[in-house]
Amino acid sequence: MKRLAILGSTGSIGQSTLSIVEQFPERYQVAALAAGRNLDEAFAQTVRWRPQIVSLATEELAADLSLRLLQAGVVGIEVVYGTEGTVACATLPQVDFVVSAIVGVAGLEATHAAILAGKPVGLANKECMVAAGEILTAAARQRNVPILPIDSEHNAVHQCLRVGAHAEVKTIWLTASGGPFRQLPLDQFATITPEQALKHPTWVMGRRITIDSASMLNKGLEIIEACRLFDVAPSQVKVTVHPQSTVHSLVEYVDGSILAQISVTDMRLPILYALAYPERPASMLTFDLASLRHLDFEPPDFERFPCLRLAYEAAEKGGAHCIALNAADEVAVEAFLARQISFMGIPRTIEKVLAATPEAHPATIAEVLAADREARQMAHALLA
Ligand code: MG
Repeated sequence: MKRLAILGSTGSIGQSTLSIVEQFPERYQVAALAAGRNLDEAFAQTVRWRPQIVSLATEELAADLSLRLLQAGVVGIEVVYGTEGTVACATLPQVDFVVSAIVGVAGLEATHAAILAGKPVGLANKECMVAAGEILTAAARQRNVPILPIDSEHNAVHQCLRVGAHAEVKTIWLTASGGPFRQLPLDQFATITPEQALKHPTWVMGRRITIDSASMLNKGLEIIEACRLFDVAPSQVKVTVHPQSTVHSLVEYVDGSILAQISVTDMRLPILYALAYPERPASMLTFDLASLRHLDFEPPDFERFPCLRLAYEAAEKGGAHCIALNAADEVAVEAFLARQISFMGIPRTIEKVLAATPEAHPATIAEVLAADREARQMAHALLA
């Protein structure tokens, strides 16, 4: 029986994780939930799953939840809040596995704390790997703690890497759906609205990641994530646009063999893989091969998607530039959703912030967070 801490339990990955727990009650139990700001959902999850500890974003929300639990006659559950609360969830002694699914660098400290506490981590939070990948992977190696990617592409790569040695890997191919604007003429990119950008053709996800998929910045973050997770150079990670999202990624070996992972477009599969690794439990997530007609692959268009180029540049420089790429994007996406900047204003903002970012390699989580704040301030100042 694995006892889980789910960081980001009310988000889409958190809810999918809980649906896996629901289907495998003999394998998984919920010990800790970090729920953020959605009080109603946090209350429902706490009543349903009875964790030992639950964390909310703020002291006020935690007090509201405590009161509602008391009124409902649910007692004996510790309610905490803030970063300290998330860290308490991640490091609870009874926890065997931590699902890190808080969006943004908000989940960074807790993910780091989980690794330091020797907890295997299922990582859905790519921003953690982008901003602090070197620190997290070094800590994980030192303590022999596995970091299992839940991001569908990296999960696919993890699976394909199990058949060959690191030195035999030539190229990691990350597939990209291409998002809703794969075929939109370049001259129409200026008038893209948030509503158009929020319509992803194949995946239902949170708001920021959906916009990031439309701009392909998400794929850029995934390039950096792959470099950190699999210890390869940026030049070894390539992107191929694959509109069907059937092949979740591929690994090309030096002998010319390319291995691909195919499965349903459902995040429960990579979540289950990470939770169960190295086992493969029988699941209901079957893929109907007979219904598959064709698989298309094409090179990405760097002109329409300048975020990809910016990500390679940041990946080459590493450290502060990767932090700035992620931070500037988050600020720019918010501004786009608030209709303060255009869609192409997103890469323009990122490019300016990257150009103004000094080369540096933060060595601690505190330094990472400071660099993150600086990049955000810079982005806000540029947009003001
Ligand atoms: Mg992905």
